[in-house]
Amino acid sequence: MSKASAVHLSFMYDLIVIGGGSGGLAAAKEAARLGKKVALFDYVKPSTQGTKWGLGGTCVNVGCVPKKLIHYAANIGTILHHDTSNYGFEVTSTFRWSNLIQTVQNHVKSLNFSYRSGLFSSGVEYINSLANLEDRHTVLFKRNNEIMKYTTEHILIAVGGRPNISESVPGALEYAITSDDIFSLSKPPGKTLIVGASYIGLETAGFLTELGFEAIVAVRSIPLRGFDRQCSEKVVSMMKEYGTRFLEGVVPINIEKIDDELKVVFSNGYTEQFDTVIYATGRYPDTKYLKLNEIGVHLTSNNKIIAPNDTTNIPNIHAIGDVVDGRPELTPVAIKAGILLARRLFGNSKEFIDYKYIPTTIFTPIEYGSIGYSSEAAIAEYGEDDIEEYLFEFTTLEIAASHRYKVESSRMDSGDFYMSPNSFAKLITVKSLDNKVIGFHFVGLNAGEITQGFSLAIKLGTKKSDFDSMIGIHPTDAEVFSDLSITRRSGESFIATGGCG
Ligand code: FAD
Repeated sequence: MSKASAVHLSFMYDLIVIGGGSGGLAAAKEAARLGKKVALFDYVKPSTQGTKWGLGGTCVNVGCVPKKLIHYAANIGTILHHDTSNYGFEVTSTFRWSNLIQTVQNHVKSLNFSYRSGLFSSGVEYINSLANLEDRHTVLFKRNNEIMKYTTEHILIAVGGRPNISESVPGALEYAITSDDIFSLSKPPGKTLIVGASYIGLETAGFLTELGFEAIVAVRSIPLRGFDRQCSEKVVSMMKEYGTRFLEGVVPINIEKIDDELKVVFSNGYTEQFDTVIYATGRYPDTKYLKLNEIGVHLTSNNKIIAPNDTTNIPNIHAIGDVVDGRPELTPVAIKAGILLARRLFGNSKEFIDYKYIPTTIFTPIEYGSIGYSSEAAIAEYGEDDIEEYLFEFTTLEIAASHRYKVESSRMDSGDFYMSPNSFAKLITVKSLDNKVIGFHFVGLNAGEITQGFSLAIKLGTKKSDFDSMIGIHPTDAEVFSDLSITRRSGESFIATGGCG
């Protein structure tokens, strides 16, 4: 530790990491494991509504972890309300938002603690301060109102991103919340408007709907931009059957507080009142405080760091995770990038991440997992004639037996109002590459688990004939991938008629 006036003859650290999220923590611990002297800065600036949290970054505190726990709670709600009595249980239930939030926050806090102790036991020095750069080897921060300087051979920037809220919409900054706030909200959100149909918007709308809140999504253009269109439409249609409402082609233009409610005026003139408004309109890189421009680090026009191969234009300044231009904004990507970077810098490794065929899953009520190309991207790259799409739509056995109803018809006693098939499977192959599978898509229960399993095969370059020779596990949803024979090109119906084969 040194004060601003001190002169350094050599660097104090081998590596300073700025950002204690998924990527930064992984890189810091790996560098320390390789025998290096490492310090890590992590500091959370409060959200627009004043929410703060502990060590671990977005995923643990306001992302993957609390989201998945609430998704689980929401799925319990659906099973309780739709399936239990048909499976023999007579259950009456009362849902308490405060109990759910307490469970989620208790778990998050236990993870904050384990990250702190993990850094300690790895020998990484943790500093809970906002850091910025003085020059390419010097990091500045405040301690007890004094400016401190640490010098280092390498700097790793892993500061992630934060949610956007439109500053041009009157009332938005003042009244709207974001994913930074929802997972610790002290009172139930009530009737909620979700602005934006990104994956975070749809996941939020999905869990609120399943928990029994009225959830309405304002979609400016198309939901789940960048994902396979047919699968995205399936996700949205299932959400509608669960009871989520969609306002198409609109954005809020004014938000005003009237008594305890938020009156929202939309771009088409329509108005409606809500208890809560959540913005889920993308995220911006958290680079503003670092003064990167001043020391010459190249940024994109939207302030993402340009770091091909995880190193910037300044050779000792590196960057990983959500803050880097062109990277999939996913925790396992940030973690893997951090570990591999540390090994390249300090462990003689030459290994880089392979960004092809990274699996991902959207945790909507009916999940959607995907690997590789969407139909649209496959056709754009290989041409329509060279692409084959294998499709199948079916109902999960357990849901079929419990006769799940569409929400709007839940009091009707007619088979006509049962939910549509809840599962949709799609493989995309390239004919000229011996039917190599370049796209795997599954909308269905446990899509996250299923997609992770198949991701190894897709990464290893599996062919459609390998899928065909696979023996299924019966009765499961995933077994459908051993028997996909209906192509989109054929025009045949790809909706199952039921039964076991
Ligand atoms: P972060 O985890 O964002 O960490 C950056 C850290 O740096 C933060 O703690 C920040 O406060 C700190 N920091 C910033 N500036 C400074 C500074 N100047 N000095 C000190 N500290 C600073 N990914 C998945 O893989 N699966 C999911 O299901 C999933 N769900 C998500 C759900 C939501 C609602 C959100 C918002 C994200 C989700 N993600 C998911 C994305 C995932 O959280 C991110 O990809 C991941 O956290 C990125 O890690 P990172 O290391 O780049 O940055």
